[in-house]
Amino acid sequence: MAKKVFIKSYGCQMNVYDSARMGDVLAQEGYIAADAPADADLVILNTCHIREKAAEKVYSELGRLRALKESRMLMIAVAGCVAQAEGEEIMRRAPYVDFVVGPQNYHQLPRLVANATPSNKSLGFAHAINTDFPAESKFDFLPEARANGPAVFLTIQEGCDKFCSFCVVPYTRGVEFSRPASAILEEARQLTNGGAVEITLLGQNVNAYHGDDGGLAGLILKLSEIGGLDRIRYTTSHPRDMDKNLIAAHGNVSKLMPHLHLPVQSGSDATLARMNRQHVADDYLRIIDKLRAARPDIALSSDFIVGYPGETDADFESTLELVDAVGYAQAYSFKYSKRPGTPASDRDDQVPEQVKSDRLEALQNLLNRQQLEFNKGFVGKVVPVLFERRGKLPQQIAGRTPYMQAVHVDCENTDMADHYFGKILPIRIFDAFANSLAGIIETPTGQGEENLMERSRG
Ligand code: SAM
Ligand code: SF4
Repeated sequence: MAKKVFIKSYGCQMNVYDSARMGDVLAQEGYIAADAPADADLVILNTCHIREKAAEKVYSELGRLRALKESRMLMIAVAGCVAQAEGEEIMRRAPYVDFVVGPQNYHQLPRLVANATPSNKSLGFAHAINTDFPAESKFDFLPEARANGPAVFLTIQEGCDKFCSFCVVPYTRGVEFSRPASAILEEARQLTNGGAVEITLLGQNVNAYHGDDGGLAGLILKLSEIGGLDRIRYTTSHPRDMDKNLIAAHGNVSKLMPHLHLPVQSGSDATLARMNRQHVADDYLRIIDKLRAARPDIALSSDFIVGYPGETDADFESTLELVDAVGYAQAYSFKYSKRPGTPASDRDDQVPEQVKSDRLEALQNLLNRQQLEFNKGFVGKVVPVLFERRGKLPQQIAGRTPYMQAVHVDCENTDMADHYFGKILPIRIFDAFANSLAGIIETPTGQGEENLMERSRG
């Protein structure tokens, strides 16, 4: 019987990509995907270290897996950024973990699995911690990429040299590294041949990509020539690296979707300086102006941190003002979380928890209002939707607009839902909520996605 692996991803999309690639590596060893830990011979937790809560979740999940391991043979591995940052600590707190593997080493999974001895006791036998930053790139050792749906991720850049004062990424993911354009184009072709219609290019600082002479804009242009690939996105970008060619690409490359996640973190120049973000609020607003000049309907998204050490009421007001000025389609906001080893965690002007909570609530209320307003603006319009997921009901199918809104459609029956999976169809929106839209399939008109986007703008 085939061995089964269950890989659980926490945190960012880069982890989702890494989990898919771990699946590709293990498929070569005969592993197939399990639906749940209970069916698996090997469980891998692909972890996130960005905020304290994310890291602590891993230990609770490990506790549940321990109970499973006591009842039968099971191999448990921890991968990702908690593995990188706390390998020894994991082995101390959860000695039944068989091995720990960092984000740069998962191409070595076959060896780690072979060396680990699965045990039905509460202690594993062959503890291994593999969290070096190896000289070789894991990408050179990964097998052909398999598309796991119509909308897939492709990591093109890793690591970060920016050292924002609050962030662990430069420590867990290492220095900035760009994959060569030729390898990315090859992987994109593999994914498209396997049924991918949309590719989201990933990087901790994706727009710092320099593996192509033309930077990220040059790479996007080359990718747009791949037949069968209809939609291109990229995330996450830093305002400092938003160059004029990339901004222009939003106006020139029709396959580049009109949506951009461009985190600003704060609207206060004093806070931005303390965060070491290397730009002021006005720089960010000028970039938004230029993006909107290139692509008037571009939908904008961001990340915000509230309660960063030293943040005053006036600093927080500046953040609300920036949000008002931009008008976001969607955004993520977080309370500042102390991360060990980062400069901000040692500051003695930490903001009280209650103040953080109050500010988060006020910011989220404003962002939610903007998001609902943005979505309501689509009611009555026809939008091209790529159907990429099943809905909750068998005849329901879900997808995304070019602007990243989730859309649900009820089909006549399950067969029709199967038929529409992976297709881009014109959808008339009849209702809008904060996090999704509801629509029906418009009688196909034979219009291309560009024309449908024109209709959705109108
Ligand atoms: N590279 C991206 C950028 O420059 O904006 C961000 C990548 S980071 C993985 C994702 C988001 O997590 C950040 O934009 C930030 O809002 C949030 N984040 C990072 N460290 C944090 C911390 N210590 N506390 C709260 N939120 C944090
Ligand atoms: Fe973290 Fe992004 Fe800053 Fe890099 S640029 S340190 S990934 S927040």
